[in-house]
Amino acid sequence: MTEFFNQFSRRKFILTAGASAGAVFLKGCLGNPPETVGSGSGTTQQAVQQVANTNSQQKPETTTVKLGYIPIVEAAPLIIAKEKGLFAKYGMTNVELSKQASWGSARDNVEIGSVGGGIDGGQWQMPMPHLITEGLITKGNQKIPMYVLCQLITHGNGIAIANKHIGKGVSLQLASAKSLFKELKSSTPFTAAFTFPHVNQDFWIRYWLAASGIDPDTDVKLLTVPSAQTVANMKTGTMDAFSTGDPWPYRIVTDKIGYVAALTAEIWKNHPEEYLAMRADWVDKNPKATKALLKGIMEAQQWLDNFDNRKEAAQILAGRNYFNLPSPEILAGPYQGKYDMGDGRKIDDKSMAAYYWKDGKGNVSYPYKSHDLWFITESVRWGFLPKDYIANNATKAKELINKVNREDIWKEAAKEAGIAAADIPTNPSRGVEEFFDGVKFDPEKPEEYLKSLKIKKVSV
Ligand code: CA
Repeated sequence: MTEFFNQFSRRKFILTAGASAGAVFLKGCLGNPPETVGSGSGTTQQAVQQVANTNSQQKPETTTVKLGYIPIVEAAPLIIAKEKGLFAKYGMTNVELSKQASWGSARDNVEIGSVGGGIDGGQWQMPMPHLITEGLITKGNQKIPMYVLCQLITHGNGIAIANKHIGKGVSLQLASAKSLFKELKSSTPFTAAFTFPHVNQDFWIRYWLAASGIDPDTDVKLLTVPSAQTVANMKTGTMDAFSTGDPWPYRIVTDKIGYVAALTAEIWKNHPEEYLAMRADWVDKNPKATKALLKGIMEAQQWLDNFDNRKEAAQILAGRNYFNLPSPEILAGPYQGKYDMGDGRKIDDKSMAAYYWKDGKGNVSYPYKSHDLWFITESVRWGFLPKDYIANNATKAKELINKVNREDIWKEAAKEAGIAAADIPTNPSRGVEEFFDGVKFDPEKPEEYLKSLKIKKVSV
């Protein structure tokens, strides 16, 4: 399987073989594995003590970095790593987390980097790091190479619908809502929003609609709106739907503005969601600091997946410095897989909750190249990227992915952190993926996936 991806991994391995081999040889004398996750004992003082004990070969080149985040559950590993002293534990004692007003601001801030008053990297929807690398969403189409370093989360997102549509069949399956969409199309089309175009949230809405035979480009109106404004628009009735991460969909329900038609966990179980990516120049200059950040994040992800810690996690995230929520309860339920969908439907299923380290399909943190390829393929499906990305067995897409996706650095960091070999994926492809409508994506045959889809903008 995945001959192509492996071929490239091997080449990358040769390029970084010196560093890898060094890391492996040193592993025995590092005092690994790190202390038990979930003990809640990662105070800064202990962290400093740990740093003093850290092998000098792994000492980060810098202790300072600025990472951007958006106040949704995807950012939790960054916030927990900071608050529980896990960045500091690995020597990153001066990590600044910078709340971004919007995805557009995050993009603008990574363009200038921390040296220009911006950020060195942070949380991204996909394929933003690839689009920034290609200069497709930057000012003056400037190419700014980025590296994807880990996935932050799976699940935790949903599609919220205005209350006026309750009982009209707007749910996961839309068969009985088709007449409603048709009726609205002749006056004011069904309007759905996301917070940035051509990335995850846009894809989830499009996939969901198209699976039921509704063409997102002709049957509805899609637009980009900042989260807060979307809620206001939904209240006044000018917005029918929007898609984003928790706490927003569930806030809509608790504020009795709308209901949740579908969790992304229902659309695609164990799907790729948001990622940590940084400017390549920062990573190239600070490879040890990059791995130290990754080790802190991995430990935070493991801590977050212990459901006993999730009440505390909700309290930290809800705080004024971070999400500024009226109550941590807004996060507490969904964090246990308990969703009051707001239309009478209730979900109580731990497998539907957000996961940060391990889900039903394996490792969440490891950035699978096959997932990058799905995002690129889906971009081609809707005409966001030209068809040549997936021509000739997706040669151009794979070249871009192999440049941007640094799963090799993730693996080095995991080994240094003492992660069990069984928890370190050996194949950059997760294999065939299946969606709620039965459609399958085989990363070895992206063009066949596009051919199999009834609704698409590209002609293949
Ligand atoms: Ca998201």
